[in-house]
Amino acid sequence: MIALEDSELLRTFSYINGSWHSSEKDIAVTNPATGEEIARVSDITPAETELAVAAAKAALPEWSTKSANERAAILRKWFELMMANQMDLGQILTLEQGKPLVEAKGEIAYGAAFIEWFAEEGKRIYGDTIPAPSKDKKIIVIKQPVGVVSAITPWNFPNAMIARKAAAALAAGCTFVVRPATQTPLSALAMAELAERAGIPAGVFNVVVGSDAQGIGEVLTQHPDIAKFTFTGSTGVGKRLIAQCATTVKKVSMELGGNAPFIVFDDADIDAAVQGALVSKYRNAGQTCVCTNRIFVQKGVLKEFTEKFTKAVANLKVGNGMDSDTDIGPLISEKAASDVKQLVVQSLEQGASLLTGNTPSDHPEQFLNPMVLTDVTNDMPIARNEIFGPVSPIIAFDDEQQVIAMANDTEFGLAAYFYARDIGRVWRVSEGLEYGMIGINEGIVSNAAAPFGGVKQSGNGREGSRYGLDDYLEIKYLCMGGL
Ligand code: NAP
Repeated sequence: MIALEDSELLRTFSYINGSWHSSEKDIAVTNPATGEEIARVSDITPAETELAVAAAKAALPEWSTKSANERAAILRKWFELMMANQMDLGQILTLEQGKPLVEAKGEIAYGAAFIEWFAEEGKRIYGDTIPAPSKDKKIIVIKQPVGVVSAITPWNFPNAMIARKAAAALAAGCTFVVRPATQTPLSALAMAELAERAGIPAGVFNVVVGSDAQGIGEVLTQHPDIAKFTFTGSTGVGKRLIAQCATTVKKVSMELGGNAPFIVFDDADIDAAVQGALVSKYRNAGQTCVCTNRIFVQKGVLKEFTEKFTKAVANLKVGNGMDSDTDIGPLISEKAASDVKQLVVQSLEQGASLLTGNTPSDHPEQFLNPMVLTDVTNDMPIARNEIFGPVSPIIAFDDEQQVIAMANDTEFGLAAYFYARDIGRVWRVSEGLEYGMIGINEGIVSNAAAPFGGVKQSGNGREGSRYGLDDYLEIKYLCMGGL
C-alpha cells in the first residue's frame, strides 16, 4: 500500500465532468518491482467514454472564451499544486511504473514545467494583419482553439506525457479527454485531483481509465465531436490510430518511437561523451523514446570510449525504484524484459560480444543488468529495433559521411546525439542527421522551452516551446471588404 502525505491523491475512478465515475469492473494496478497490487481502478467502457466526450464538448464554450489571463491563472495554480505535491506524485509514479524515485520526482517537475510554460505562452497567441491586394480590404488572421481534444498516452512517462499535451491544449482554450496507459493510470488520476483543486472547471480535463484500448481508442479517434487527436506511443499503434482519425478528418499529432544514434567522433571530449551516453541510455532503464539506441564510435577513440563507458555502466545499481541508491529499476513487464533479452541473444549469435551485464541477477525476471555490447553492426536486429531496455550496442565507424548514412538508415527520426569539437563538423552533422532533435555534446535535450518531436515515422507535431500551441489552434482568415 502507498503511504502518502495526502491520501486523496490516490484516486481509483475515472474523472469525468468534474466527478469521479465508477464502473462495474476494475483493473489491478501492480508495482513492477514487486508484483504487488497497489490499487484497483474502475475499468471504464467505450460507451462510458462518450460521457467524457460529451462533458468536454459542453465545457468548451465557456473555457474557450475565457480570457488568456484567466486560463493562465488556473493553469499556474495547477503547476503550483503539482510541485507542492511532488513527493507524493513521485511515489505514486515509482510504485506504478518502476523508475527510481529521484527520476519520478524529476518527471513531476518536468511535466509541471510544461504547465507553467503554457500558462504563460497562452497569453501570446498572436494573430497577423496582412497588406491586402486592394485598398478597400483588410486581411486579418486570428487563431482559435481547435475544440475538443482527445489523447492516448503511454506508461513510460505517466505524468509528463499527459502534462505536455493537456497544458498546451488547455492554454489554447481547448477541452481535453485523455486515456492513460492501463499499467499506469494512478498518476493521471492524481493529476485530475489536482486539476480540480486548481479550479479547472468541470468537463475541461477528463481522464478515462479502461482496459479496452481498442474500443476506447475508437471513440477517441472517431467521435465526431472531437476535433483533434494526439498520441504518444509506438509507431505501429500510432499508424493505426492515424488511419482511424481519417474517418472524421481530425487534426492529429503523433509522438512515436525512436532509434536514436549517439555518435562519438575522434575529436570528442570522451569523458563528457561517456556521461552523455550514460544519461541518455540508462534513464528509466532505457525505456524512453529518446534513449540512445545505437552508439557509433569512430575507430580512433573506440578503445578509450568503450573501456570508460563499460566501467561506468558496470557501476550502475539495479533495484527497486523506492531504494535511494537505485539507478535502474525494473522493466515495465516480464514480456518487455524478455523481448530485450531476445535482442541481446540474437546479437550474440550474430557475432556481438557482451562486455558487461552478464553477472547473474539476484532480482526477479523483470530486472535486467545494464549491458554493453560491442562488435555490433548496423544491420543486426538490435540496431534496427527500438530496444527499450538497458542495453548499449556499440558500432565502430571510419568517417563522417559513413556515420551520417548509418545513423539515418532507419525509418525513425526522433532524437540523435553526437559529440565532436570541430565547428565545421558540428554544423555538417547537425544538418545531415534526419532527426527532429539533436543533442550536440549533450545527452538530455528535452525541456518545456524546446520543441519536442520527430520526423519520418517518429511522428509529427511538436510539444513544448512556442510551437507547441500550434497543434491546438486553427488559423482563421478574416477578409474585411467595403472599407
Ligand atoms: P503502445 O503499445 O503504442 O501504447 C501506447 C498507448 O496506446 C497505451 O495507452 C496503450 O494502451 C494504447 N494502445 C495500444 N493499442 C491500442 C489500440 N489498438 N487502440 C488504441 N490505443 C491503443 O506503446 P507503449 O509500449 O506503451 O509505449 C512505448 C512506445 O511509446 C515506444 O515506442 C516509445 O518510443 C513511444 N514513446 C514516444 C514518445 C515520444 O514523445 N515520441 C514518448 C514516450 C514513448 P494500453 O496501456 O492499454 O496497452
